[in-house]
Amino acid sequence: MSEPDWLVEGRPHLWRPYCQMKTANPALPVVATRAARLVLDDGRELVDGIASWWTACWGYNHPHIAAAVEAQLRTMPHVMFGGLSHEPANRLATRLAKLLPGDLDHVFLAESGSVSVEIAMKMALQFHINRGVKGRTRFLAFRGGYHGDTLATMTVCDPDEGMHSLFAGAMPQQLIGDLPRDADSTAALEALVAAHAHELAAIIVEPLVQGAGGMLFHPPEVLRTLRRIADDHGLLLILDEIFTGFGRTGTMFAMEQAGIVPDVATLSKALTGGTMPLSAAVARRPVFEAFWSDDAGAALMHGPTYMAHALACAAANASLDLFEGGGWRDQVARVSAGLEAGLGPCREMKGVRDVRVLGAIGVVELERVDDLEALRRAFLAHHVWVRPLGRVVYLTPSFTISDADLAQLTGAVRAVVAGL
Ligand SMILES: *Cc1c(COP(=O)(O)O)cnc(C)c1O
Repeated sequence: MSEPDWLVEGRPHLWRPYCQMKTANPALPVVATRAARLVLDDGRELVDGIASWWTACWGYNHPHIAAAVEAQLRTMPHVMFGGLSHEPANRLATRLAKLLPGDLDHVFLAESGSVSVEIAMKMALQFHINRGVKGRTRFLAFRGGYHGDTLATMTVCDPDEGMHSLFAGAMPQQLIGDLPRDADSTAALEALVAAHAHELAAIIVEPLVQGAGGMLFHPPEVLRTLRRIADDHGLLLILDEIFTGFGRTGTMFAMEQAGIVPDVATLSKALTGGTMPLSAAVARRPVFEAFWSDDAGAALMHGPTYMAHALACAAANASLDLFEGGGWRDQVARVSAGLEAGLGPCREMKGVRDVRVLGAIGVVELERVDDLEALRRAFLAHHVWVRPLGRVVYLTPSFTISDADLAQLTGAVRAVVAGL
């Protein structure tokens, strides 16, 4: 089987993500996407179980999103956002403010998830500075958490299990706690926060699902407890909805299931339906008001070059049009039922620690994986694109995946897990 020239020529020059370049399987050449499928250079089609890191919630090449991006491209691809504004960004901010609960009304647009988390952290630090409170410079984050790969976001990821443990000594040390799941862990967390409240700016957590850290679920009560602890000690609460936002857990935002409103929420991933990079840090009114001043020095000094990218905002608006149709609730419920039915039998299999499903997220957690690259190859043999996070095999397909493609995905997981 001959490889295309562009693949062979580019390979030595591309430094690939999360990749031991020496030993990893070669990256697959994708030449097109169709609905929930990746089309490879040799004509093979893989059913996509990940929807490109759960961004492509409508599947690929959705005609409504494509048309919106094409029209925007012809009118105006991008202008700087300093001193200038445009309809796609203004409409998007209005819609996000309306869609998010409570007074989460102030939308700061950026290009990537990590950058939106950086902005949320910066907002929290400066919130206290602007109010004349000194020394609140650290964050409380949680074991199992993942908030990005940039330097500041690395400090609020799980320090041991996460992929950034190498850097432990090189970074500011944040306070890392266990989620308050029961009376004991709640008491332990309360004691930890009480001892450190004077130096803490905010609590940061992924609501309901800790995604890249291992697809770990927690119940909504955990978030209500965190909201209460934050309020008791004058801390801001940042909910990182980058993974969970836009329907993935069955509600538009995971925070809705807990009935709480964070002080800042971060959004990205499915914001544009997987079409363009875009993110947002959305603040409640009291946070915004801490920056509202006659003093220029109290302003938020941030402004990514490509922030509020017009094509990306057009894609996001088109994706929100699709959400407004409302059909996504039934689609997520259908995918959820398919995941439960298709993955459930793995509970009885040897070497399986846990099977769990929430919304359009299905997880088969194995006891251990000896050869991750071999496991990845095993999925390819079944013509599916599934990339386990270590011993965590997960599916986050598009909401629009056909029943047949979904069955092929779950069937492949059953076959591969049974064969281990
Ligand atoms: C993916 C992710 C991020 C980082 O987003 P990037 O766009 O990769 O920078 C942050 N937080 C969560 C919860 C994520 O899933």
